[in-house]
Order: sequence, then C-alpha cells, then structure tokens
Amino acid sequence: MADCVFCKIAAGEIPSNKVYEDDKMVAFKDLEPAAPVHVLLIPKKHFDNVTVADPELVAYMVGKVGEIANKLGVAEKGFRLVINTGDEGGQTIHHLHMHLIGGKALGWPPFPPEK
Ligand code: AMP
Ligand code: ZN
Repeated sequence: MADCVFCKIAAGEIPSNKVYEDDKMVAFKDLEPAAPVHVLLIPKKHFDNVTVADPELVAYMVGKVGEIANKLGVAEKGFRLVINTGDEGGQTIHHLHMHLIGGKALGWPPFPPEK
C-alpha cells in the first residue's frame, strides 16, 4: 500500500533491524523501545488492523511468537504480546502489527485503572 511505512519495511524499501523474516511476515526492532526487548511483528500483506486481517495469517503470526521470543531470550521469563487497534486502542500505524515486549517485569494495567 502506498505511503505505508510498514509495507515499505516489509519490502525492504526503508531500513529496519530485522530479527525474523519469512515469506509471510517480518519481525523488527521498534524504533522507540518501551522495554529492553521490543519488536514488531507485521504481515508482509497490508491489513489496516486485526479486525480486517486474514485470521489464518494472524494465527500464523501468533504461531511464530514462541520462536521469536526464544530467539530474543524472553520466552522463559515471559513477555507481552500487544495489538493496539484503532484510535482508542492507541494504534498510530495502520498496518497490522503485534508488539512483542519484554526483558523486564512489566506493569499491569499499562494505563490508569478505572476507579
Ligand atoms: P502503534 O502505536 O501500536 O501503532 O505502534 C507503532 C510502533 O511503531 C511504535 O512503537 C513506533 O515506535 C514504531 N515505529 C514507527 N516507525 C517505525 C520504524 N520505521 N521502525 C521501527 N519502528 C517504528
Ligand atoms: Zn502497509
């Protein structure tokens, strides 16, 4: 999709620090890491968000999480997988992506709780 930064990363048209790649998806380091380990998993095919994505592709990506987490050294201690969706979900880039975050103890909830 034209002017989509993650399509360009998937196509190798703009640089990224890739930690995993196959024919369907790429995982690369987030530019502004929120924790010692912070990578983004994206499908090579453009979908605006998870609600309109091919469910089989979403399942495929989730199926790769263990392998990627293991490679990054966070599989045993734990990590968080986050899919920000839409405006209130905090999605800023409208190409489906999963944040894999870890490398330290993460707080919960990650936003002010309801009273
Ligand atoms: P979200 O707020 O869920 O849409 O997350 C978008 C994420 O993409 C943010 O954590 C950004 O730091 C990250 N990001 C934006 N542009 C790039 C880029 N060129 N390379 C790596 N990460 C990026
Ligand atoms: Zn895209």
